[in-house]
Amino acid sequence: MRIVLLGAPGAGKGTQAKKLIEKYGIPQISTGDILRKAVADGTPLGKEAKSYMDKGELVPDSVVIGLVKERLSQDDCKKGFILDGFPRNTSQAETLDQVLAEMNMPLQLALSVDVDFDILMKRLTGRRTCKQCNQMYNIYFSPPKKEGVCDKCGGELYQRDDDKEETIKKRLEVYEAQTAPLIDYYEKKGILRRVNGEGDIEEIFANICKIIDELK
Ligand code: AMP
Repeated sequence: MRIVLLGAPGAGKGTQAKKLIEKYGIPQISTGDILRKAVADGTPLGKEAKSYMDKGELVPDSVVIGLVKERLSQDDCKKGFILDGFPRNTSQAETLDQVLAEMNMPLQLALSVDVDFDILMKRLTGRRTCKQCNQMYNIYFSPPKKEGVCDKCGGELYQRDDDKEETIKKRLEVYEAQTAPLIDYYEKKGILRRVNGEGDIEEIFANICKIIDELK
């Protein structure tokens, strides 16, 4: 399956993508994760990206598109992929269509995960991630047993730089202005499906799987 996950920051795309990898055995391509790794590794690309990410702005298309192209050309994407956080604007979506057409593997599904604004704010301000294993928690909805410590591996939990309140507001504005129009873009192409992203993670996942299995 070749899938794009759409949805605002905090809609739960990453969480659902990780569950989809397990169930369907296809890789997740998260541009946010790739960029955060480049920042952590201190590469030149990471240094360039960090200034945009810290402000909640989009990293330039030229940088992100290059990363995605390279990732899509790897062998494990032949059986499918889940794009998470890409595309973020119409120009990225158009380039993606071109690249995938050249590779003879067009998108089959654009799935929008829909969540109310107030819930998004709590999800984002409450989000904590394990430094060691990347397991995610939320201090409001799914706190770790012991504050600041990962249940799974005992690693230290941290708050992403771009999950601070001011940056979050900016990220949501950027989403509304630049990314939300992609819902129309994919609707016109006839591959858009929507899922309610509020409530129980397992229930949302079951609804997503139903959509995917119907398409197979
Ligand atoms: P995410 O984890 O997907 O919310 O991404 C975190 C940050 O990485 C975003 O706020 C952007 O600064 C940057 N980023 C991630 N994906 C993209 C993309 N497709 N285009 C531009 N910037 C991106």
